[in-house]
Amino acid sequence: MSVTETAPRARRPIVPFLRLPESGEPHLVGQRCEGCGAVYLGKRRACSRCTAEGPFKEIPLSRRGTVWVWSIVHQSVPGVQVPYVVGIVDLPEGVSVRCNLTDVEPDPKKLRFGMPVEMTTGVSQQDREGRDVVAFYFRPVQG
Ligand SMILES: [Zn+2]
Repeated sequence: MSVTETAPRARRPIVPFLRLPESGEPHLVGQRCEGCGAVYLGKRRACSRCTAEGPFKEIPLSRRGTVWVWSIVHQSVPGVQVPYVVGIVDLPEGVSVRCNLTDVEPDPKKLRFGMPVEMTTGVSQQDREGRDVVAFYFRPVQG
């Protein structure tokens, strides 16, 4: 009798600024202007604060932030279950990130501006190569 082992499915992040390290927690990364310290999501050609064309250094972003604004989505493309909650989360590094809010009811009474949230990840789909596509979400901080 043999034991069949299934290799863990390969995975990839849904956006280029999500890191899925082999050890340690998944996190977002920013590009910090070495001239003035401004931080951005995604690659930049120049800094919009000081106009320098770099250098930019990749830095890990906090997994915790606060909800700046939220909205409940009631209509979406076919196949996407509604309602769900989207938001813009402010991170302490000065970056704002658009995301889905998870583990919270799509009910205005359960949502508030400034609520503390933390990042989490989940497999959103499989790509054509059969890899898990990992998305990030933010959820209310427990406790
Ligand atoms: Zn700058």
